Amino acid sequence: MLECVVKSGWSQFVEFIESRCSSAEFQNWISPVQLIESSTEEVTLEVPNIFVKEYLLDNFKDVLADFLPLRSNGDVAIRFQIAEPEKTSSSLPPPPEMEDNITEDLKLNPLYIFENFIEGPSNQFVKSAAFGVAARPGKSYNPLFIHGGVGLGKTHLLHSIGHYVQEHHKKQKIQIITTESFINDIVDSLRSKSIDKMKRYYRSLDVLLIDDIQFLQNRLNFEEEFCNTFEALLNQNKQIVITSDKPPAQLKLSERMVARMEWGLVAHMSVPDLETRVAIIKHKSESRGLNIPNQIAFFIAEHIYNNVRQIEGAINRLSAHSRLMATQLNEDIVEKILSEMFQGSAPNKKISVEEILKSVAAVFEVRISEIKGESRHKEIALARQVAMYLAKEMIDDSLMKIASSFGGKTHSTLLHAWKKVSDQIQVNEMLRKQVQMVRRNIEN
Ligand code: ADP
Ligand code: MG
Repeated sequence: MLECVVKSGWSQFVEFIESRCSSAEFQNWISPVQLIESSTEEVTLEVPNIFVKEYLLDNFKDVLADFLPLRSNGDVAIRFQIAEPEKTSSSLPPPPEMEDNITEDLKLNPLYIFENFIEGPSNQFVKSAAFGVAARPGKSYNPLFIHGGVGLGKTHLLHSIGHYVQEHHKKQKIQIITTESFINDIVDSLRSKSIDKMKRYYRSLDVLLIDDIQFLQNRLNFEEEFCNTFEALLNQNKQIVITSDKPPAQLKLSERMVARMEWGLVAHMSVPDLETRVAIIKHKSESRGLNIPNQIAFFIAEHIYNNVRQIEGAINRLSAHSRLMATQLNEDIVEKILSEMFQGSAPNKKISVEEILKSVAAVFEVRISEIKGESRHKEIALARQVAMYLAKEMIDDSLMKIASSFGGKTHSTLLHAWKKVSDQIQVNEMLRKQVQMVRRNIEN
């Protein structure tokens, strides 16, 4: 009977996570885990390799704590056992798609080319560095490290380099990867025992383009493998380009990695100024066959100022509207169509995590440093969860980014806190009032 309860704890956890992560992530990381044994004191899980264990603990420690038994020191009581190699591969050879899982074909977005990239003071330097690298791979800046906020064109430039090299240096072996897919490649090749093949493949490249290196943070074992590949390529003067949401020194990576990344050129991309935004709007709308008068383009650019992807979203809405209505766009119509977007991005309404922390700390009578810290003390944990709940509710930013402002928590911790508080305020009048109070403080 009791065993049954604990067992369902694991399957509840699996269910909870399945609805919250991508299916690739789920397939790679959660599905291979097997529940071997469970009691009220401890759960034994079998994992195919050490990386899966690490992944679970890195990303879901707090969530696991809610579903599985705890030890007296508060740690989740899981015993991990690594699967016997025979067991995972049996006597059959690995399935063919596993063996050749390393993505050897180059997947580039056809729209992300240099010709479609609008230049302005905020990105001119980065663009010319990217172009320099594409024109002479391995011979100008190496590595080239591009960092900047969300939706500013980092991925666009990375793919542009890919297209250019493919077209002008046909003999060069090039690959573009996201950090996530690099990690998945490692895991897959460990599983199908083709890790040497994978290493050889990456080390044979002439140009390696890596998107979103920030996802390598807190992935210790992968970081080491990554760093080895990275050094092997650099030592042979093979070109590496990396994008990131932060500069190298602000990433939580080993000193060795940071030093290597700072070796070449570190280039920052900032938010485009008004004129550049107008030029982007004109360019994007023309390519969609939409005629946006200058005045309207300025109007949009004044309201959406910190993210080019949002500008594209606005143009898509306008384009859909004008297809349906066949009316001339004017400021009133534009404002009406885009009012939702404008609200979210109006400068005086942008709320920061710091403001939320300040207000939560005041109402719950705890310190900001305690909220950001690790303490599991009841009052502090509640304040932390409320702050996370409000951050998700009030800030229009990626969960990943919001979570990292809480002393480097993961997005699953944030989601979990959000869910918990959303549920509790339905039944707990006192908590609902406190949350309301915090919210009013922040809004006024
Ligand atoms: P990031 O990787 O920095 O988050 P992306 O490269 O995905 O941003 O860019 C978001 C969208 O905005 C893409 O569709 C991209 O084509 C577009 N974009 C960004 N900057 C520019 C620019 N300077 N000119 C044209 N399009 C841009
Ligand atoms: Mg990107």
